[in-house]
Amino acid sequence: MAVETAPVSVSPAGGLPSAQRRGTLFIVSGPSGVGKGTLVRGLVARDGDVRLSVSVTTRSPRPGEQEGVSYHFKTREAFDALARAGALLEHAQFGAHHYGTPREWVEAQQAAGHDVILEIDVKGAIQVRERSESVVLVFVLPPSFEELAARLQGRQSETPEVVRQRLEIAREELTFLPMYDYQIVNDDLEVATRQLQAILEAERCRVSRLALT
Ligand code: ADP
Ligand code: 5GP
Repeated sequence: MAVETAPVSVSPAGGLPSAQRRGTLFIVSGPSGVGKGTLVRGLVARDGDVRLSVSVTTRSPRPGEQEGVSYHFKTREAFDALARAGALLEHAQFGAHHYGTPREWVEAQQAAGHDVILEIDVKGAIQVRERSESVVLVFVLPPSFEELAARLQGRQSETPEVVRQRLEIAREELTFLPMYDYQIVNDDLEVATRQLQAILEAERCRVSRLALT
């Protein structure tokens, strides 16, 4: 029996050329200190096809953080001006500070066929899911609450008061888990990085995504 196939133009190497395929947004969320940054940096080092979005923030740089690499550090006034101008794909307040995703850079990467990782909080994830078609949401969980507290304290980047506040926020963030597509428990970093890579690779094989132009 003859099988009808959809009339899809195929590149000589097989599949659609990446310029024709719109990149997917991969959102990575999870409580502060769970290891999102560590995980995502590990993934980017292994996967040359994925781009990491650099957010805008009103918080001060931590020791070792670089302007334009870790974040674009802005005053509250400059941040509000970007938000008003529609330059942020999403934005939210986390603790005492504001964070947002630069729209133009992300959209240009997607248009060029690159997948993009947004490491953002749950409030931002909700906004992006409502506005964008091709979004995959990944939630990173700690092996236990005690381990989360130990990692957050061990990083020594926040005052004890901010650590306490972030642990409180963490309990609320965990209630958003059901809206996510995947969960990863970051116990063994190597295992967790492999799981994140597997999610990317599986999502890239989705027929519906391959057909998106
Ligand atoms: P987040 O970006 O989620 O706030 P970080 O990536 O800064 O978290 O990680 C917080 C701390 O936990 C860092 O000191 C990091 O080295 C450590 N860490 C990350 N993943 C693991 C892991 N799987 N096991 C133990 N420590 C980890
Ligand atoms: P940190 O101050 O530890 O770098 O980040 C605090 C929280 O803000 C984390 O949950 C992080 O994922 C989130 N965050 C970082 N960038 C953005 C962003 O652009 N938008 C939103 N909504 N959250 C962000």
